[in-house]
Amino acid sequence: MKNLIKILPFLFMALSCNTEKTLKMETGSVLVVVDELYDFIKDGALACGHSLEAVAYTKELIEANPDIPVLFVCDHHPADHCSFVAQGGPWPPHCVAGTRGAEIHESLQPYVMEELTFNKGCDPAVEQYSGFDGRNAAGESLAQVLTTLEATGVYVVGIATEYCVYNTANDLRNAGFAVKVVEKGLGYVEEKGHVETLSKMRQDGFTVL
Ligand SMILES: [Zn+2]
Repeated sequence: MKNLIKILPFLFMALSCNTEKTLKMETGSVLVVVDELYDFIKDGALACGHSLEAVAYTKELIEANPDIPVLFVCDHHPADHCSFVAQGGPWPPHCVAGTRGAEIHESLQPYVMEELTFNKGCDPAVEQYSGFDGRNAAGESLAQVLTTLEATGVYVVGIATEYCVYNTANDLRNAGFAVKVVEKGLGYVEEKGHVETLSKMRQDGFTVL
């Protein structure tokens, strides 16, 4: 008991330090979560590095910023999509609409809203790494909804840094949004490519947190 009393202050310190570490997003901003879908996570068809950690950090970020709208961008392919090997593309089949692989990770499900969920890669003939032109169930694009929300800044997390995160962030930035990419919330196809992409983004003037 004496020992417990001795360590209690340190325990509280450790806990409060942990809370302080979670990023506070600026008021007026939104969070865009890219492709945190089962096929990109752990043992999925296109499982990426740091994917479970990215999902866990995304959840932490959402919970630490309850007033910030969360928008989900989701790869959502037909079974014969052009990006699949059988059609001459570079990737194994992944995120086929209606399969578990295309679902958002269950730990993030409580934060999913239909009007803030944007599917991309739905046209069999078009590869679409960027979520910028993704559409929600009502047919509105991510860009349109960001304008409706009067978002001033956009924080981006997701999978994979080198492809869909980079392209989404780049399109958002070109459209005039202040984009901040949050490194702890990223997963990648290859770590080398991830590091190179982040350094290119820093050079290009992105904020990488
Ligand atoms: Zn895809």
